[in-house]
Amino acid sequence: MNKIRKERKVFSDLNVREKYKLYKKQEKEAKVIKIKKRQGRKKGFCLSEETKKKISNALKGNKNPMYRKHHTEEAKEKIRQVRLKTIFSYTNTKIERLVQEELTNRGYAFYTQPLIFGLPDLAFLDQKIAIFIDGCYWHSCPECNKGRVFVKVINRDDKVNEVLKRNNWIVLRFWEHEINNNVKEVADKIENLYLTKLNENKTFTEVD
Ligand SMILES: [Zn+2]
Repeated sequence: MNKIRKERKVFSDLNVREKYKLYKKQEKEAKVIKIKKRQGRKKGFCLSEETKKKISNALKGNKNPMYRKHHTEEAKEKIRQVRLKTIFSYTNTKIERLVQEELTNRGYAFYTQPLIFGLPDLAFLDQKIAIFIDGCYWHSCPECNKGRVFVKVINRDDKVNEVLKRNNWIVLRFWEHEINNNVKEVADKIENLYLTKLNENKTFTEVD
């Protein structure tokens, strides 16, 4: 009780400037909490079709702040510098985790995102099998993504396939919709390839 009385006394004794400072400090703290809350909500949060349309309509044509304007060379350089510093996270996505869980349940040990060319999502290093799990949107799946085509991503995928195959790797690629439809089928394919590779290596060592 005494403490509360003391605090009240202190607050009432403050002059206007000090009160303003305290108020500003509280406001700042509230803002931080608000931002944190918003970020927490954003994770795995999907916008409805209606709000998506609203956002896109609000930035169309001359309503867009960049309408008939271009970035200056200075601004472009600034953007480049910022992008160089960003750290790309190689955490496992939801579809990757589905495949990983299915394989671990079957008792297989594998590497996730090993540091080899192309950064495969899963790999058996001894058997030289690299497994990629491609999202339907960014990798322009012919069944799901009929709108935008990302040529850069497709070219990069082709290059990764080529380089790995040249170095005696086996490359497996699965679509996001394949995993969502049937994880077990995907795991079966991986399992079969792994077992055949394992047997090949065995016979090879026996002959030697
Ligand atoms: Zn697809």
